[in-house]
Amino acid sequence: MGLEAGEVFVHRNIANLVPTIDLNVMSVINYAVRHLNVKHIIVCGHYNCGGVKAALTSTDLGLLNPWLRNIRDVYRLHEKELDAIADEKARFNRLVELNVIESCRNVIKTAEVQQSYQERQFPIVHGWVFDLQDGLLRDLEIDFHEMLREIKKIYNLA
Ligand SMILES: [Zn+2]
Repeated sequence: MGLEAGEVFVHRNIANLVPTIDLNVMSVINYAVRHLNVKHIIVCGHYNCGGVKAALTSTDLGLLNPWLRNIRDVYRLHEKELDAIADEKARFNRLVELNVIESCRNVIKTAEVQQSYQERQFPIVHGWVFDLQDGLLRDLEIDFHEMLREIKKIYNLA
């Protein structure tokens, strides 16, 4: 990313999820927006993600089941599009992208992001996917303003 050490405040978890009841990720967003005044929030996934792959398999993974169910929910939301992709790897990669986009939505659903944007016009939320094969970061170019507008119809907290 061409940035100095410490310039990015990072939170990591399995399959870059932003569950609304996860106190860790919610605290990170709160701190980053309200105290660090970050201008950008990036949800960064990666192709060939083991978490997403696990969600695509019919296996009981114990404690991981509720976490991975978030990804199965993303599949259900985009079932038509995903089922239309014949190639298994391409379908897997698309689910990785859709999961990033859904996590972006979950970031935008927070009061912190909505209120800060209303008052200060930041942060802007971005969805990226890292490809371990070529080492490149791919910007999914989500339309933040349109996504915010759509979300506020039902999830408005500002
Ligand atoms: Zn992963």
